[in-house]
Amino acid sequence: MLQVEQLKKSFDGFQAISDANLLVPKGEVVAVIGPNGAGKSTLFNLITGHLQADSGHIRFQGKEITSMAPYKICHRGMARSFQLINIFSSLTVFENVQASVIAKHRLDQNFFRPAKKLFIEETLEILDSFELFDFKDRSCSALSYGDQKVLEIAIALGSKPELLLLDEPTAGMSSEETRRIVNLIKHLSREKGLTILLTEHDMELVFDVAQKIMVLHQGKTIAQGLPQDIRNDKSVQNAYLGE
Ligand code: ADP
Ligand code: MG
Repeated sequence: MLQVEQLKKSFDGFQAISDANLLVPKGEVVAVIGPNGAGKSTLFNLITGHLQADSGHIRFQGKEITSMAPYKICHRGMARSFQLINIFSSLTVFENVQASVIAKHRLDQNFFRPAKKLFIEETLEILDSFELFDFKDRSCSALSYGDQKVLEIAIALGSKPELLLLDEPTAGMSSEETRRIVNLIKHLSREKGLTILLTEHDMELVFDVAQKIMVLHQGKTIAQGLPQDIRNDKSVQNAYLGE
């Protein structure tokens, strides 16, 4: 589904990503782990086109997408959430998801078929599956932090992605809210067949949901493989898990 090779990115001489490598197989949940500042969010921004790589390659479903514009990458079937919540706070919950559904159809050039123009059914369906239906007419700023994070994932799903990137989806959440996100990730993976790439600082959660783990340390991939292999990897223990 996704292949990252020898990716590099620096900011004013600071090498944030020095050698990132990643293979995300179709249908799996893959986690990128690493300490704060390891470059996880930067890697996501490179994959989704929000940042341009200095060198290296990113391939999505076999096609080169390195340095492609974010909306084009999204149109090819990739969607994401951000580490800091990214929603239209002045719009209602319904309008936020609807905007994403409309944008997707617009890119597919279905937009001007009048009967479908507002995509109300499709939007309501997504809200329902995310347990946001009852809040649909509320302003987003009135939602709890946990519901806003769930809404952000619902917005991402509005573009009908095949690959979903979640940057620290449970950061700042209570244990109950975290459980909701874990169940959601499992549901999207198992029931909807989505491929999911996430970053997470909660190791228990990572070992619970991920089929594969990549370890990023100071911008470099130091290991990737099955969770049990990562747990037993000496270089990973030294660099990260033992901290
Ligand atoms: P993580 O998500 O793993 O915590 P980040 O990708 O956010 O790490 O950051 C990796 C490093 O790159 C950090 O040292 C951070 O300060 C730096 N960095 C990230 N974005 C920028 C930027 N836009 N300009 C300068 N430095 C940045
Ligand atoms: Mg980050």
